[in-house]
Amino acid sequence: MDISIQTPGELFPAEVVHLLGTARRVIDQHVNDHGTCAECSSNWPCQPARLAESALATL
Ligand SMILES: [Zn+2]
Repeated sequence: MDISIQTPGELFPAEVVHLLGTARRVIDQHVNDHGTCAECSSNWPCQPARLAESALATL
């Protein structure tokens, strides 16, 4: 059998690592503050937070 051990770099290309970092930062900043986003003052959940969550959910 030919089993190759994948390094983290192969499992997660640089673009994905970058996306993860960006999404995590967005989720950290855009938090629910009594139904309003603490960062952008939109109704919760705001679009950036929803985009970041769906980006993480696809991984
Ligand atoms: Zn927000």
